[in-house]
Amino acid sequence: MDSVGVAAAAPDAGPGPAWQSKCPWGAPSTTSISCSLADVMSEQLAKELQLEEENAAFPEVVAAAEGPFITGENIDTSSDLMLAQMLQMEFDREYDAQLRREEKKINGDSKVSISFENYRKVHPYDSDSSEDEVDWQDTRHDPYRADKPTTTPRRGFIGKGKDITTKHDEVVCGRKNTARMENFAPEFQVGDGIGMDLKLSNQVFNALKQHAYSEERRSARLHEKKEHSTAEKAVDPKTRLLLYKMVNSGMLETITGCISTGKESVVFHAYGGNSSTEDKVIPPECAIKVFKTTLNEFKNRDKYIKDDYRFKDRFSKLNPRKIIRMWAEKEMHNLTRMQNAGIPCPQVVILKKHVLVMSFIGQDQVPAPKLKDVTLSSEDMKKAYYQILSMMQQLYRECNLVHADLSEYNMLWHDGKVWLIDVSQSVEPTHPHGLEFLFRDCRNVSQFFQKGGVAEALNERELFNAVSGLNITADNEVDFQAEIEALEKMNEDHVQNHGKKLSTFSSDGDPPIYDE
Ligand code: ADP
Ligand code: MN
Repeated sequence: MDSVGVAAAAPDAGPGPAWQSKCPWGAPSTTSISCSLADVMSEQLAKELQLEEENAAFPEVVAAAEGPFITGENIDTSSDLMLAQMLQMEFDREYDAQLRREEKKINGDSKVSISFENYRKVHPYDSDSSEDEVDWQDTRHDPYRADKPTTTPRRGFIGKGKDITTKHDEVVCGRKNTARMENFAPEFQVGDGIGMDLKLSNQVFNALKQHAYSEERRSARLHEKKEHSTAEKAVDPKTRLLLYKMVNSGMLETITGCISTGKESVVFHAYGGNSSTEDKVIPPECAIKVFKTTLNEFKNRDKYIKDDYRFKDRFSKLNPRKIIRMWAEKEMHNLTRMQNAGIPCPQVVILKKHVLVMSFIGQDQVPAPKLKDVTLSSEDMKKAYYQILSMMQQLYRECNLVHADLSEYNMLWHDGKVWLIDVSQSVEPTHPHGLEFLFRDCRNVSQFFQKGGVAEALNERELFNAVSGLNITADNEVDFQAEIEALEKMNEDHVQNHGKKLSTFSSDGDPPIYDE
């Protein structure tokens, strides 16, 4: 029985013997509200009352779904309501597990399957469907759902002569009430009453009915929330579940809060747990990058991934949700390459769908400042410049990567050195726009350090040549860029003609080097 809901359905039981306030059927005799039968039977009134009560009784549930933090510690057990809700959640979870089993049994291997999805109790953490690329089937308009109950005709009686029975007849009314429970939402537990000759008083029936409506509405609202939720505010229920599992499994100790909310990702700080995954030791502090599941933001990133041959075959076949996972996957692969080359960058801990856990650059929950936010001594500035120059070369030559979003926004200053982050969009140099991306990176870096007073800083063209090893001689930006594009085109033509791309560019007429 739903202890929370019933408590809510009879909130004004008033002072009375203890058993009354605990009795799940409410307090039948203490309510002094007098009203007509018409009122009692009025659905309109029931609904209105319902709305009032529901709003009073369930705000906590909804609020909890919006909070960004999940920890094993911050569950408040001091409130009875909260405890009751937690118990209810546990009960609902079991109920849903049962539903799932039944669903499975019914569907078997059949190609056409039915879903009980809408009959499930919905909780923010409870949506562990790994089939998230399959949209929720809409079973709301269930053709098999019972029609409205037959009501006593308007004239208020049935039968003739001495067999006349009015709607006020206690037995008839009681039986009818019991039967009408069948029309509560299907997920509402009515017990075995329907099969028995059980007679419910109007008062009890109405309390139950109100509660059933309340549950139905709450459930519908949460379903809606679940379906429409995006990562705009915090994270959607599916992501919450992923995070919750990471804490639950002991991989993470606590997720403390949000470090950054960008257009395409939300980054959280977490303390690492003591369980190790795949022989990896979890760093004491972690950063969790959640790639936003709002699809539209990613549309303008197509050009990075669509032409990346590593993902080319997969791109066209994928739905948008999978593409978002691919961004996370790309970031993971690129970080791993960088790690292997010894470039200071976050270390990958684990990737789960669109959630990437990595080591935290910073200390005691305070992220290392971005290069744009830190004031360095001229000595450190120079040191940072030379470090970046050599990192860009390593990235290009050893990792075969171009950062493609390199600027003072994606470099952190920590432990007296520069750390590179945010590499989900990084591409290989032979990407159709790879050299253009590199040139843009060089411009950002060059401008930042020239403005920052580093006299030794190369200009963007010199830096480009220094990083790529190419020898583009154009002495102005327009010609330089034209040459870059010509090289890119040469590579594309080569791919067209030979089905193979060049492994490196060469600008001085040498025979191109092929990837074997
Ligand atoms: P976005 O695509 O939103 O720019 P980033 O990877 O750049 O994503 O992360 C956003 C911000 O989060 C960064 O500017 C940085 O402040 C912080 N951040 C990201 N990863 C880490 C990390 N591993 N350690 C510390 N802070 C991080
Ligand atoms: Mn960034």
